Amino acid sequence: MISGRAARTAPVRSSSQFLVFGAPAIEEAEIREVVASLKTGWLGTGPKVASFEEEFRAYKGARHAVAVNSCTAALHLSMLAAGLGPGDEVITTALTFCATVNAIIHAGATPVLADVDPVTMNLDPNQVEAKITSRTRAVLPVHFAGRPCDMDALCDLAARYELKLIEDCAHAIETEYRGVKVGTIGDFGCFSFYVTKNVVTGEGGMILARTEADAARLKVLALHGMSKDAWKRFGDEGYKHYQVVECGFKYNMMDLQAAIGLHQLRRVETNWVRRQEIWNHYNEAFASLPLELPAAPEPDTRHAYHLYTILVDEEDADIGRDAFLDAMHGHNIGVGVHYLSVPEHPYYQETFAWRPEDYPHAMRIGRQTVSLPLSPKLTDDDVQDVVTAVSGILDRG
Ligand SMILES: *Cc1c(COP(=O)(O)O)cnc(C)c1O
Repeated sequence: MISGRAARTAPVRSSSQFLVFGAPAIEEAEIREVVASLKTGWLGTGPKVASFEEEFRAYKGARHAVAVNSCTAALHLSMLAAGLGPGDEVITTALTFCATVNAIIHAGATPVLADVDPVTMNLDPNQVEAKITSRTRAVLPVHFAGRPCDMDALCDLAARYELKLIEDCAHAIETEYRGVKVGTIGDFGCFSFYVTKNVVTGEGGMILARTEADAARLKVLALHGMSKDAWKRFGDEGYKHYQVVECGFKYNMMDLQAAIGLHQLRRVETNWVRRQEIWNHYNEAFASLPLELPAAPEPDTRHAYHLYTILVDEEDADIGRDAFLDAMHGHNIGVGVHYLSVPEHPYYQETFAWRPEDYPHAMRIGRQTVSLPLSPKLTDDDVQDVVTAVSGILDRG
């Protein structure tokens, strides 16, 4: 006999229809553009990268844009261009992807964590101020899930303590703060076009810079420290010698990647409307469940709706977070965790003696959070499957 409980635990989707978390929405335009690049033979850094930089710069209303091959590279180079290095402390959030912290270490600087606000999940400016020492040189906020940080407070700290401000905008392509697009507020804004992000190129990143000098330095650093762009070097204007002016990196974006990004960027606003629709649908569908839902966007800001994160508190939900993740997987629905707090990882514990308990809000969020599928690729039926699965798991009958 099939009990009611067993009937409820039958998978919402079949395994052959597994809903992949964060699957990108790739259309014919991207496919044609990549094929066109392949046919011209120009695969590496070339005219499509230049067009993508210009379109992204214009979309963000920024002064300068430099394409690179990841947001991690963007963060690393921004810190070098900001003059950060050994002995300098950079304050960032305890609730972020490891790349944010690793980039500080790559630059030779020392990462210092501050806790987040429990409601916005963004860096708490008061916690930042408490961590400022005579060695602090920069603050690296992350606009978490696509919600802008309190940039007025962070800019005020940066001005008072003479700190550089480098924005990690990996979640925040469409985000605005008081009418200003994020990534243009600090000295540098760093973006990711990784496969799960709101604009994808496979792997890829972009740096927005405020000054011509910074943008020029970033270009040199991103390509071996060579003084001239390689794509001009191999152009039809005759051979041009280059000079190596510093020890740079191999961080340049390829035309094959930019070919995807150009078309992705042109759809970012229509995709945003769909993201908002799914977000609002989840809010309504989950309103009476024993969950903490994402806080509503603040007035005079624009949320990028990159991640829809729910908090599963075992006391309220009668199920632990990890069991909830397993149950969603059992329904053949992919979910994410953004993120276990940085101090949960052994490398940072061993290297910096960080302890999760010292960042209690980031720790709690990291141990309770679940990211549900939120992508313009989702059909209404997919969204309904997510709602059915979440509701079923939390139904205590
Ligand atoms: C994805 C992500 C990064 C790293 O981006 P890559 O392009 O994969 O290097 C950095 N910070 C945050 C907050 C991210 O989500």
